[in-house]
Amino acid sequence: MNKFKYFELDEFLSSDTAKARRIDNYPTFETVDHLSALVMTILDPLRAAWGSGLNVTSGYRCRALNAAVGGVGTSAHLRGYAADIVPANGRIDEFMKFAEDWLRKTNTPFDQSICEKDSRGRRWWHIGLYSQTGTQRRQYLSLTK
Ligand SMILES: [Zn+2]
Repeated sequence: MNKFKYFELDEFLSSDTAKARRIDNYPTFETVDHLSALVMTILDPLRAAWGSGLNVTSGYRCRALNAAVGGVGTSAHLRGYAADIVPANGRIDEFMKFAEDWLRKTNTPFDQSICEKDSRGRRWWHIGLYSQTGTQRRQYLSLTK
């Protein structure tokens, strides 16, 4: 069932927080469809263009997991329409710029591209395919948590 070129479905489901708190983060078929759309339209082609490994730090989050990691209630992660990505080579600045340039250059529809940073200085790129209401706003944002 895996039609992805560079990613495994499990990368979007597994979560250390879910394991530690024994949260069952099992997706519905609909969620898997959403994750597939995200990979096929954005992540696989972006990974091919980037030419180096990309790691998924967070993909789908059930309600309990989303609450456990402090995600907002409207998060696209809840429906499998978002992923947090870091480059395997650690070049996060370069990757964020590359990803945003790629979205612009390819005119790929999406909802939000967010360069995120937490209080411990960890950084990742969030990509959301659709908003809660199904729109694609093509927003470029930076966020410090
Ligand atoms: Zn995210």
